[in-house]
Formats: sequence, C-alpha cells, structure tokens
Amino acid sequence: MSGWLGVLFAKLVWVGKRVAAPLQRSDGPNKFRLSSVDTATTTYDGDIGWASRPPATVECPRCESEIFQHNVRDSIDCPRCVGEYSHDEFPDLKLLYLTCPVCRNRMEHGQRHPERFEIPEWATCTGCRYHWEFDHSYDS
Ligand SMILES: [Zn+2]
Ligand SMILES: [Zn+2]
Repeated sequence: MSGWLGVLFAKLVWVGKRVAAPLQRSDGPNKFRLSSVDTATTTYDGDIGWASRPPATVECPRCESEIFQHNVRDSIDCPRCVGEYSHDEFPDLKLLYLTCPVCRNRMEHGQRHPERFEIPEWATCTGCRYHWEFDHSYDS
C-alpha cells in the first residue's frame, strides 16, 4: 500500500512540475507570442483601422521628449519645446509605444509589411488582451 501511495505521490509531483513550468517561463521579459493573435477562435476586445488607433507616444525630433498623441487626428505638440507636428507627419516621427485604451498598459506593436508601411500595423496588450489591427483587408 505504501509503495502504491509513493508512486501516486511521485506522479502528483511530476504533474505539478509540468503545470508550473509554463508559469515560470512568463517571469522573463514580456515576449509577445504570435499564437495569441493568430488564434481566430479566440474572442478579444479590439479595434480595426487607423482611426481607432490606440493613443501613441512619439519622440520629438528636436528635443527627444516624449509626445503623447491621444487621437489619430490630434496635432502632435511637444510639451518641452516649440516642436509642433501635424498628424500627417506621424509616420516621420519615431514611435516609442502605444498605450492600451482599456487598461493603460504599454502595448506591444509591430509591422506586417515594413516595406509598405512606416506606421504600426498591429498592437496588442499583454495585460488585458486588447488587440488593434491597422487593417484586415490587405491580404485580399
Ligand atoms: Zn521637443
Ligand atoms: Zn490592456
């Protein structure tokens, strides 16, 4: 009987380790995993289109300050210097990060066609899973 219990206990420890392993891996830097985005069956909060782009923070080309642009159509005014840029100039500015409109986390962002666009084409929040896509129709 004690031998059987010993085997059972060893199995439980083994299962426990297997379950704990993926959790321990997430202690590292918040690596973006493509699978969470590409899973079409998963429903998540999100928006599509440039007009719905999450608030962005760009770098001022004059003084390297961070400039927050809440809305895509807002002008981009540097809070530190006289730098003033129209929303048309967004692609010329260096994008630092996008802010999740749901939970205010910094989002992961990237491009799918760097040769075609100079703006982010997707952004995803590792905190609440909010996801934004520039457009879904470019493949068709
Ligand atoms: Zn500036
Ligand atoms: Zn979020």
